[in-house]
Amino acid sequence: MTLVRQVFCLLLLGTQIGSAYAACAPGALGTSRTLTLKREYAAYGTVQHLPLPLQKGEVALTFDDGPIPETLDRVLETLAAQCVKATFFMTGANLSRYPELGRRVVQAGHTPALHSFAHPPLKSMPVSEQLADLENGIQAFSAVFGQAPAAYRFPFLDETPAILAALKERNVTVASIDVGIDDYAPNDMRTATLVERLVERLNRSGSGIILMHDANQPTADALPALLKAIQENGYKVVHLSWEDAK
Ligand SMILES: [Zn+2]
Repeated sequence: MTLVRQVFCLLLLGTQIGSAYAACAPGALGTSRTLTLKREYAAYGTVQHLPLPLQKGEVALTFDDGPIPETLDRVLETLAAQCVKATFFMTGANLSRYPELGRRVVQAGHTPALHSFAHPPLKSMPVSEQLADLENGIQAFSAVFGQAPAAYRFPFLDETPAILAALKERNVTVASIDVGIDDYAPNDMRTATLVERLVERLNRSGSGIILMHDANQPTADALPALLKAIQENGYKVVHLSWEDAK
C-alpha cells in the first residue's frame, strides 16, 4: 500500500471511529482513568452520602438536565478537545424528544445516566406520581440506550423515601455530588464567577463529583475555562462509568 493510500485509510478510519468532534488539543487535560462501578444500589457524593473511591485530586465531571440541541454539541466539542469523558444525567423528557442527542453523548464515549423524567419537585408530589416519573424516566432511557439506567440523580438533589426504595429494588446507584458551581438562575453565571466558585470549592473538598449543567448556556460558554482551571490546579479527571446490564 502506498503511503498516500495508507494516510487516506487512516483518515477514513479516524472519521468513522472518532465521530464528528475535534481531536485532542496538544497539552489536553485528558482522562486519567475510568472508575467502573457495579450495577447495584449504592449512594455517592458527600453533599448527601459517602464519597466515591477517589484519590485526592481526582474529580469526576457530571452534567445534568440535557440533552438539548442548543448546547449539547458545544459541550461535547469542548470535552473532546480536552480528551475528557464525563457522565451525563439526562432527563427522560429530553431523551424522548431528542433520542439522537442521547445517542451522540454515548457515541462520544461518555456515560449516560438518568435525572428523572420531567425534573419535577418530587418532594411535593404524591408517592404514586413520584414513582410514575421514575418509571417514565426509565422507559425513556431504555428506549434510547437499550438498557435500564445504572445511576440516577434526583432533581434538585431532593431525595424522597419512595424513590430511594424503588432505586434500591432496581439496583440503581444514587449519584449525588461533592462540588456544585451554582450554574443555575438566579445566580451570577459569568464565566469568571463560575471558575472562581469551582476552584474555591474544589480546593476545599480536594476531590469528588462535580455537578455542571450542560443544558445551561452560560455553562457551555464557560466550559473551556472550567476545564482549564481544573488542569491548572492540578486535578485529574476520572471517567465515572457503570458496568453494562447483564
Ligand atoms: Zn437538574
